[in-house]
Amino acid sequence: MKPQVFITRELFDDVIAKILQYYEVEVWDRYQAPPYETLLKKVKEVDALVSLLADKIDCNLLKNASKLKIVAQLAVGYDNIDVECATKLGIYVTNTPGVLTEATAEFTWALILATTRRAVEADHFVRFGEWFRLRTAWHPKMLLGMELKGKTLGIIGLGRIGSRVAEIGVKGFGMKVIYYDLTRNPQLEAEIGAVYKDLHDVLKEADVVSVHVPLTPETKHLINESRLKLMKSSAVLINTSRGGVVDTNALVKALNEGWIAGAGLDVFEEEPLPQNHPLTAFKNVVLAPHIASATYEARHGMAEIVADNLIDFYEGKVPRTLVNKEVVNVRKPGFK
Ligand code: NAP
Repeated sequence: MKPQVFITRELFDDVIAKILQYYEVEVWDRYQAPPYETLLKKVKEVDALVSLLADKIDCNLLKNASKLKIVAQLAVGYDNIDVECATKLGIYVTNTPGVLTEATAEFTWALILATTRRAVEADHFVRFGEWFRLRTAWHPKMLLGMELKGKTLGIIGLGRIGSRVAEIGVKGFGMKVIYYDLTRNPQLEAEIGAVYKDLHDVLKEADVVSVHVPLTPETKHLINESRLKLMKSSAVLINTSRGGVVDTNALVKALNEGWIAGAGLDVFEEEPLPQNHPLTAFKNVVLAPHIASATYEARHGMAEIVADNLIDFYEGKVPRTLVNKEVVNVRKPGFK
């Protein structure tokens, strides 16, 4: 009998077909995530789980899953999973790094440009009649924004995505890059002239601050009130990492009081963001519904890595993008 996998959202047919060669597959076919109670019941019955970031995979759920041996997450971030608990229980956790780097970096640039050049505001200006009402085709001061060439891009978290955003900033827009990370990246420093600074100086000096750290206990509210106060009043904050890295209340205060010039946000502490959330009231904030990796190429690539990890595990191999590497000391990969 094949092992059973529960997949918490619809994937691509060809990827499902690939998984079906090794597993009995059940797919949750609703648009919304399965409720926690449903997930709790499902995991009891299955050997493998394919999860998304909106699925809360906590220790309670993992302890309930007596047959579960692998959680294959369809995302590079895995802050929704209690990885430490999974490791203790001998449950493998995998993610999907790399294939979404380009898509996420490109969308980060979409937000940088939309925020600094007021692209969404400009669209509304035309669409809702303001331009027509003003009866002027062109005005030297209409919707002025910030030019990027020669400005300073501050990257917080120079990993895969942060590095690509930095590279585009230097090569595409002629920006200078400064960055903060736990570790320095001498290769990128040499390649694009990125300069390492502490967090305080990155926030103080950058014209565009772009956040790319994972959400961990250490990065929760990394961008808080006192750090937002360090930013230039002409600077913008871009977040395509995780909502929890930025203290939302502090950001609303910063925008209300003009500590910063604007923000481009793809991720939020509360997702989906409620329609009347204070952030929706600012013209100088560009909002997106967590879609930075939403290209066909990236999402299909992510699904393929999920399938490959499940197949690796089935074949008794260490899955190619294993998160909790120490788990191999607790249990060998495979269902035998
Ligand atoms: P990555 O390659 O692991 O890069 C993260 C970087 O942040 C690493 O260089 C890491 O350093 C650094 N870092 C970790 N903790 C830090 C801390 N406390 N202070 C400073 N730097 C720290 O990951 P990635 O592939 O670039 O992805 C980054 C994050 O983007 C993901 O975790 C995910 O949450 C988010 N993301 C969002 C979307 C979206 O749709 N909006 C899409 C993809 C990814 P070390 O390597 O030394 O730990």
